[in-house]
Amino acid sequence: MNTPKRLHPILQGARACVFDAGGTLIHPDWERLAALAEAHAGRRFGAGEMRRAFGEMLKSLNAPEQGKPPVDQTGRHWTFRAMYGGLGLDASACTKLVGHIDAAHAERHIWCSCDEDAPRVIDELKGRGLLVAVVSNTEDGRVRDALGAAGLADRFDVIVDSHLVGVSKPDPAIFRHALELLNVEAHEAVFVGDSYAHDALAARAAGLRAVLLDPLDLHPDAVCPRIHSLGELLPPAV
Ligand SMILES: [Mg+2]
Repeated sequence: MNTPKRLHPILQGARACVFDAGGTLIHPDWERLAALAEAHAGRRFGAGEMRRAFGEMLKSLNAPEQGKPPVDQTGRHWTFRAMYGGLGLDASACTKLVGHIDAAHAERHIWCSCDEDAPRVIDELKGRGLLVAVVSNTEDGRVRDALGAAGLADRFDVIVDSHLVGVSKPDPAIFRHALELLNVEAHEAVFVGDSYAHDALAARAAGLRAVLLDPLDLHPDAVCPRIHSLGELLPPAV
């Protein structure tokens, strides 16, 4: 008899898997972000260097680099403003670019690229009877729009958008809200996200199990399990 192969050990016995959205299920449209920087700041960036700068910026939220001011987490698209700053653009260029990102984002969500593993991972988890949800911090209440642009929106049992519920990660209240909607206990849920501070540590503080998605290996000292791609949640292919 064929027994189903095991999921990642952290999912053993879990009833729900809750995902962060940006950087986990969906990714920025790096091509548009590169084109904007080239057109309006005269700099050419590759997707790889932007991805790394974005990851380093997220890491610095939890562990600020010595001698550098903390990342200003306010204002529209602060994550991209900080990313461009990390790539060497000055403050005025970053502010100008944010305006152009805003215009591009109004036309089509700037986080519209589907993670290549996301559809099969979600489908496999659902096929095994797990509830699947999203908890995302947004500035404008458009996470469903972003998931729709990436072709994922219809797959989830619950979608929680910080802007719509009035509370953001790392506040434990947003995790509790999702758990109530899912009708599961904290210890029965696994949270998967790419931010060590806002996802992994915050979810653990709220009593959930946590997995850090760390594709660039930026967090070797993480206190929770790490994966380099979402596909690692599933059994290895034979
Ligand atoms: Mg994220």
